[in-house]
Amino acid sequence: MLTLLFQLSIHAALLLLAAVVGSAVGDGPGSWLGLLFMALLLKGLDLVNRHKFHLWLDDFTLENVPLLAGVWDDMAAKLFRVLKLQQKQQQALSNALISFRTAAQALPDGVVTLDAAGHIIWCNSTAQKHLGLRLTSDIGFPLINIVRDPQFVHYLSGNAWEQTLVIHSPRSNGKILSVQAVGYGDQQVLVLSRDITKIERLEAMRRDFIANVSHELKTPLTVLSGFLETFRDMPLSPEQRTQYLEMMANQAVRMQNLVEDLLTLSALESGTQAESETVNLSELALHLANEAQQISGGQHRIVAEQIEHNLLAQGSEQEIRSAFSNLVTNAVRYTPQGGTIRLTLQQGEDDLGQPISSFTVTDSGIGIQPEHIPRLTERFYRVDRSRSRESGGTGLGLAIVKHITSRHHGELKIRSTPGTGSTFEIQLPLAGVDHPI
Ligand code: ADP
Repeated sequence: MLTLLFQLSIHAALLLLAAVVGSAVGDGPGSWLGLLFMALLLKGLDLVNRHKFHLWLDDFTLENVPLLAGVWDDMAAKLFRVLKLQQKQQQALSNALISFRTAAQALPDGVVTLDAAGHIIWCNSTAQKHLGLRLTSDIGFPLINIVRDPQFVHYLSGNAWEQTLVIHSPRSNGKILSVQAVGYGDQQVLVLSRDITKIERLEAMRRDFIANVSHELKTPLTVLSGFLETFRDMPLSPEQRTQYLEMMANQAVRMQNLVEDLLTLSALESGTQAESETVNLSELALHLANEAQQISGGQHRIVAEQIEHNLLAQGSEQEIRSAFSNLVTNAVRYTPQGGTIRLTLQQGEDDLGQPISSFTVTDSGIGIQPEHIPRLTERFYRVDRSRSRESGGTGLGLAIVKHITSRHHGELKIRSTPGTGSTFEIQLPLAGVDHPI
């Protein structure tokens, strides 16, 4: 206001000066001509300033502020300050957006932001992998037009967003996703996706495991309680009593074996390392060859001609013995009477050329179809359930072998020809040799 008054008084003073000078030059019309000339000069200056000001407004940036005079300069200075403040706020906003996107990009979860109409505003690279989006081409399109899973469409269109939704990744990569939508700002939506494939797989394994254990224990328990009822309710001859007691004892042994194997597995899975010692594998193999004779009860030909002397490994003798013994027991179990079981222990090289000991048990038994081989080390996986149970198997033996072998940085290899026989091999690093882990 003060500046305006100042400007007006300058203009008035100039006009007054023009009138005084005009009348001094000549009286009458001279003074009026001077006045008119000054007025025109002032108007002209004003027009030039106004034009420069308008040009600036057309290209309104901080870089091209014009040089103005009078009230126009005052207005330009004020606008300059407003523009500068606006630019500062814009910069702060864009910095905040950049830091939000950088943080969202670094998240292990997928993040998609949607506008009020459900159109994609932005998504991070994990969301692109999870939901099969392409940021460059999908921006501005409705998310439900791209992720067409009916469950997802129903979830996003509904209002039960406090719950998460579990879906298969639309990229058909076998991944299972947990998805949750969260509302924010002005009806905008954040869609979060998390890969829960591993958790779901573990959960399925846990369910299967409990079902399997319950089933394995239920069968012998049912048999046992059946016999107990018979003992209680029926008069039995001494021969029948002996026969039934023997059958009950078998079932009890079966349960005992199962519980023992379960305890072994759980100890192995708990990760607690057994005490490490130098294990003489050669002595162990010879001892197991004798044991095989006893388990077989003379029904098989046991050959142990290729046992190299003094092969040593580092680890738990008890665990290695249990792994070797499992292979021998299986060979006896799955080889018909009259078959041959061959044990060897030799020094060799693994796939990387590292020196190893190789313990093999080869039988001339029933063999295994190739499709079963990769699954044999799963807990409770059996090719022939009834055969395994009849022969006292728990379905946990090879799972235990696999665990023990990998705890000792070794490998279990299985080769088999159905109807001809199988070879199970345990490779272990030799003691005293440095092995890359
Ligand atoms: P089980 O207690 O049933 O023997 P394992 O885990 O030791 O359980 O073995 C899993 C399955 O692998 C067995 O049920 C059997 O079908 C198969 N198997 C293991 N060893 C042999 C073998 N030497 N010959 C044929 N099949 C075998």
